[in-house]
Amino acid sequence: RVRVDKDAAGSVIARIVALVEEASATKAPTQLFVEKIEQRYSVGVVVATLALFGLPVALGADVTEALLRAMTFMIVASPCAVVLATMPPLLSAIATAGRHGVLVKSAVAMERLGAVDRVALDKTGTLTEGTPKVTAVHGDDAALALAAAAELPSEHPLARAVVAEARARGLELPEASDFTAEPGRGVRAVVDGREVRVRRAAGTHADTAVEVLVDGSAAAVLDLSNRLREGAPEAVAALARLTGTTPALLTGDNAGAAARIAAEAGLTDVRAGLLPHEKAEAVREWERAGAKVLLVGDGVNDAPALAAAHTGIAMGRAGSDLALETADAVVVRDELRAIPAVVALSRRARRLVVQNLVLAGTCIGALVAWDLAGHLPLPLGVAGHEGSTVLVGLNGLRLLRDSAWRQA
Ligand code: ADP
Ligand code: MG
Repeated sequence: RVRVDKDAAGSVIARIVALVEEASATKAPTQLFVEKIEQRYSVGVVVATLALFGLPVALGADVTEALLRAMTFMIVASPCAVVLATMPPLLSAIATAGRHGVLVKSAVAMERLGAVDRVALDKTGTLTEGTPKVTAVHGDDAALALAAAAELPSEHPLARAVVAEARARGLELPEASDFTAEPGRGVRAVVDGREVRVRRAAGTHADTAVEVLVDGSAAAVLDLSNRLREGAPEAVAALARLTGTTPALLTGDNAGAAARIAAEAGLTDVRAGLLPHEKAEAVREWERAGAKVLLVGDGVNDAPALAAAHTGIAMGRAGSDLALETADAVVVRDELRAIPAVVALSRRARRLVVQNLVLAGTCIGALVAWDLAGHLPLPLGVAGHEGSTVLVGLNGLRLLRDSAWRQA
């Protein structure tokens, strides 16, 4: 029997897709700045046009000639190309990223992504596969069944692994009540009238290990495999090239498991055993030192750090709803290699914005100077003005091409 209590459109992913679709209504900081200046600039253009007509006529110049010059000035000095410089590259980049499985929630996020200069990665579910497996049960099946029953309501990848193992052994899972999850630590629930806790095993282990406590006494230790995601070393290397610093690993897991995964992925800066607020604190520490941190995570325990970071990316499949909601972008199919690619794409978009602003400014400057100092024919002024506007627009749309999505 299945009870559906929410529409499919209410899922987190569906809401994020809607956000991305509405991204064209969001404005990048550069665009807001341009628009603020543009308002005053436009008033200035109108005043200058009136002066350019009024003054020479008052001084006895030919009315037709003065009118023509003033009108030409108004056309070529208009900031159409400047206004069109920012949004087409960023929106094209959002569309291209979306086609390649990265949902960037807004133009602001797209502009920010390219500014990051330090990357921190979560381990479980981010660098490692979202579906770990139980490799050994040091204890009996009864303890495993209790652990699985307690883990059943949890969204954590390790929880799903424990449940899968119990089911694979054909164990009956009793009903659990009073479930509570402590992000970064473990879970607790009452099963068959007994208090069951599943939490990080104390001490150093070569792999991820959780201990099962029943009514406060140790009942079992479960070893869980940590498989690096496909493409993780390549993604780490690409992010290191892009930012000039090797990414760091922030994990709630034990130091042994963290060190092993870090070595496989090519990471050197490892911080293990972190609680959610400690992950956020590590991010804030880097931000205080002037870094712009990109945090990549999946869990509820990553949410504070995702919020503290300059930019956050969540894993779409393994990720918890809270992480997906807090992040600025979501990697839908959990492909790590998409992360350096989207950072590189954002940088390309930012470069195009600058290129466009320079192009637009130069055209306006040259045409205005020509009109004021010499004699710029009106048709040529119109052609120059519209031409530069179209050019700037098309320049931004280049990021729509598939070739704009290159690995960094
Ligand atoms: P990471 O930061 O690497 O993603 P987490 O912070 O999610 O890891 O988890 C840190 C540790 O806390 C895990 O290695 C595990 O020992 C323990 N833990 C967290 N949630 C659970 C859970 N639902 N069941 C069992 N152990 C958990
Ligand atoms: Mg995680």
